[in-house]
Amino acid sequence: IHTSCDSVPEGARPIQIVITNEDDHKFELDAAALEKILMQEHVKDLSVVVVSVAGAFRKGKSFLLDFMLRYMHNQSSESWMGGDDEPLTGFSWRGGCERETTGIQAWSEVFVVEKEDGTKVAVLLVDTQGAFDSQSTIKDCATVFALSTMTSSVQCVWDKYGRLAMEEIYEKPFQKLLFLIRDWCYPYEHGYGLKGGNCFLDRRLQVKQNQHEELQNVRKHIHNCFSSIGCFLLPHPGLKVATNPHFDGRLRDIDDEFKKELQNLVPLLLAPENLVEKEIGGAKVTCRDLLEYFKAYIQIYQG
Ligand code: GDP
Ligand code: MG
Repeated sequence: IHTSCDSVPEGARPIQIVITNEDDHKFELDAAALEKILMQEHVKDLSVVVVSVAGAFRKGKSFLLDFMLRYMHNQSSESWMGGDDEPLTGFSWRGGCERETTGIQAWSEVFVVEKEDGTKVAVLLVDTQGAFDSQSTIKDCATVFALSTMTSSVQCVWDKYGRLAMEEIYEKPFQKLLFLIRDWCYPYEHGYGLKGGNCFLDRRLQVKQNQHEELQNVRKHIHNCFSSIGCFLLPHPGLKVATNPHFDGRLRDIDDEFKKELQNLVPLLLAPENLVEKEIGGAKVTCRDLLEYFKAYIQIYQG
């Protein structure tokens, strides 16, 4: 009997698939680990949707991903967010003592979703983490970010981080990019959600005469790089989330305004009608193909 509707299946957990070595700035793919995930019999030949959340440490990626997991486990339910007193589980499964590793983690369960036209797709959730403590780690971080961009169909990034990586991913055709801006505190200028976010983004991407030429080029070019670019403004989740060391993710402790926006944000990324299948060179990619692409792409950056 399931007592909690969001319960993560036993054994399901985040798996480190790309590791950055801070000493020699090299990247390593754990191909065996990735193969275990992608070559599962029931998913390996399905088109894959790769949703990645990218950003620095302690920005709330795991928090967001845990809600994405809740959604995937309760797809057909209106109340996918769960009960008021259920602790969040999933990417943040080890809580505060989690060793912070830069690189890419994938969730071990691949979700099968039936789209409106009856086709089934496989959904992979990915956590991309970078560090910003020195020049060299910033470069590593941009590389990990680029690798994640190349292998995902939908990438969610934090504003500052996104700007940095745009220079690295210059001139490559990608799919959907969503800037997630947290703790937005100017709702009277641009309202929360996608509408306010897109409006804010348009202003930020405007090319201005007095900008550095490089910045102007990045701004001009970003629209050619992605088939869809959006921005979502999230309110502050409340003091318990941000500062209470005993906060365990339960809804009761999260501000209503934040929950309201989260209720819109997650289906925008993961509802069957919004899923974006990964394409490379205009062709859909299966889980099996994705494994090969990972192996090929990592080589580019290993040098
Ligand atoms: P990660 O390192 O990016 O995976 O970050 P975590 O998900 O582990 O969250 C880091 C801390 O930020 C935790 O204490 C969360 O409760 C808190 N947090 C999560 N989301 C938000 C947010 O939107 N705003 C603020 N201010 N804090 C958040
Ligand atoms: Mg995390």
